[in-house]
Amino acid sequence: MSCSPEELKRKSDDFSVKWKLFAGHPNFDDFVEFAVAASSLTEFLNTRGLSGLHQSAHALEQKVLSLFDGWSGLDMPDFTLAELNTLVGEFAARVLTFIQGNSSNVVERRVQTDHPLLADLTPSKNIWLVTPAPHTWSDLVTQLGYFKIKVAMSPLPGEQSVASEPAIVLVDANGMENAAFGAVVRTLRGRFSASTIIGLHLGGEFESFNLALGAGCDYCFDVATPLSAIMARIVKLCDNDEEPAYRVLVVEDSKTASAVIQRTLSECGIESLAIARPQEVLTSLVKFQPDLVLMDMYMPGCTGVEVTRVIRQHAEFLSVPVVYLSADTNVALQVDALRLGGDHFLTKPFNPVILNAVVKSKIDRYRSLRRSMFLDSLTGLYNHISSKQRLDVAISSAVADGTPLCVAMLDIDHFKKVNDSYGHPVGDQVIRSIAWLLKQRLRKTDTVGRYGGEEFLVILPGMHAEQARQLLDAIRVDFGQIRHSVNGNSFACTFSGGVCEWSAGLGAEALIKHADEVLYQSKHAGRNQVGVLTPS
Ligand code: GH3
Ligand code: MG
Ligand code: MG
Ligand code: MG
Repeated sequence: MSCSPEELKRKSDDFSVKWKLFAGHPNFDDFVEFAVAASSLTEFLNTRGLSGLHQSAHALEQKVLSLFDGWSGLDMPDFTLAELNTLVGEFAARVLTFIQGNSSNVVERRVQTDHPLLADLTPSKNIWLVTPAPHTWSDLVTQLGYFKIKVAMSPLPGEQSVASEPAIVLVDANGMENAAFGAVVRTLRGRFSASTIIGLHLGGEFESFNLALGAGCDYCFDVATPLSAIMARIVKLCDNDEEPAYRVLVVEDSKTASAVIQRTLSECGIESLAIARPQEVLTSLVKFQPDLVLMDMYMPGCTGVEVTRVIRQHAEFLSVPVVYLSADTNVALQVDALRLGGDHFLTKPFNPVILNAVVKSKIDRYRSLRRSMFLDSLTGLYNHISSKQRLDVAISSAVADGTPLCVAMLDIDHFKKVNDSYGHPVGDQVIRSIAWLLKQRLRKTDTVGRYGGEEFLVILPGMHAEQARQLLDAIRVDFGQIRHSVNGNSFACTFSGGVCEWSAGLGAEALIKHADEVLYQSKHAGRNQVGVLTPS
C-alpha cells in the first residue's frame, strides 16, 4: 500500500508516452500498447492503495477498452481522439498535483521508532475523522489506540488547508442529507487522491450507499454497523501485508513469442521465466515456484497437453493453473486441452489486455485457494499445521545463522465464560481481536498462528527470552484494555502466555511443549501474565 513518488511518476510518464505515440499517428498496434499501459497503470494504483487516482484511471481504462469493440484500426473518429486527449491530460495533471503535494509524506513507508523491536512494523498511518460530533466516536478512537492506530479529528473540508494527505479519511454522515454528504465526500476526493475514504453512519437504504460510493467513498457503513466491523476494516487497511509479485512460467519453443509474452506480462508487473524445452518444466516449477504456467500448444517433440499431463502427475503441482496459448482455433483440441487439466485457452495473436486479465484472475483464485489451505479462516492467521511448519523453518534459520529465537504460547483466560455469558459469535469476535492485535503489533518477520481454538503460537526470530516476554507483556496489557461490545454493553478479556527460548538440540515439538508448560504456570499463578523459561 505504498509507493515512492518516483515510481508513480515513472508509471504515469510511461503511460503518457504510450498515448503520445498513438495519438501522433493512430494505428492499431500502438493502440494496443496504450491500452496495456492504461490497464497496467490502473492495476498499479489499485495495488498501491492510491484510491482516488485509481478511480480516475479506472474510468479512463474502461473508456479505452471499450474502443476494442468497435475499432480495428482503420479510422478512429476525431472526437474520440480529442476526448481521450483531454482525459489523459487531466489524469496526468492530477498525478502531478498529487506528487507535488506529497513528495515526502504519505506514500512513503514510515517506521515506528518507539519500540526498537518493532522497527519494521506497520507504517503509522495518518487517519482523519471528519465529524461534527467527535464525542460520538470516542470509543472507536480509543479502541484503535490499542492497536497503535492514531486518529486525528479534523475540520470539514474547505475550512483549513493541510500539509499532508491522510491515508484514511473517516467521514461521518450523521445528521446530513444524502446530497450534502455526497458533496463533502466529493470535496475530499478531489483533494485527496490517494486516501481511502470511509463513510460512516449512513442511512441504511440503497440510495445513500449508491450516492456515497458514486461520490468517491471506498467503503460505507450504515448506522447499524457494529464498531467491531468498522475496526476490522480499518485494521485491515493498516495491515502491511503486501502481496508478492505474480509469477508465471512460460513454456514456449519460439524465442520471439516468449519475448513478446514476457514483455506483456512485465508491463503489468508480473514476473516470468521462459523455457523453450518442455523437458525442463519440472525443475523450473520447483526452482521458480510460479503461480501459473502459460503453455504453448505445439512444441518440437511434444504438445502442451502432454506437458500438462506430466505436470499433473506431481501432487505439489496438481492445482497450479495452466493456460494454453495456441494459434489453432480447433474446438476439439481446445476441449481436449481443458479436459486434460488445462484451465483456459487463449488463441494467438492474443489481446495483451485479455492475457494479463486472465493470468491475474487465475492467479488470484489459485492464491486464495492456497490461502485457505494455510491460513485460518476466522482470523487470517497461519493455521495449526502451517504455523508448525514455519517453526521448523525458523529453527533451521536460527541454527544456520546462529541467531536467537523465541516461541510463545498464548491462551485467552476464562474463555469458556465468554462463550457461556455472551454466546459463541461474541467469543469469535474476541478471538479475532487478539489476532488483529498480534498481527498489528508484531514484526513482519514474526509468525502468529492460531494453534487451537483460543490458543496462539508466536514465533519471534532474533529475540532473546526477556525481550520476547517484555514485548508480549506490553501486548497483554493493551489487550486487557480492549472493550468487546455486546448489545450496547462491553466487557474486557485477558490472556496468559509462556515464552521459551530456543537452545541447541531443541526441536519444534519440544519448544512448543516447554512454552506450553510455562503457559500452564502462568495460568496457575493467577492468569493475565506472561512467564518465561530461560535455557538452562
Ligand atoms: P483458562 O483460563 O484456563 O484457559 O480457561 P478457559 O475457559 O479459557 O479454558 P480453555 O482454554 O480450556 O477453553 C477453551 C474454550 O474455548 C473451550 C471452547 O468452547 C472455546 N473455543 C474453542 N474454539 C473456539 C472458537 O473458535 N470460537 C469460540 N467462540 N470459542 C471457542
Ligand atoms: Mg510452438
Ligand atoms: Mg483459555
Ligand atoms: Mg485453551
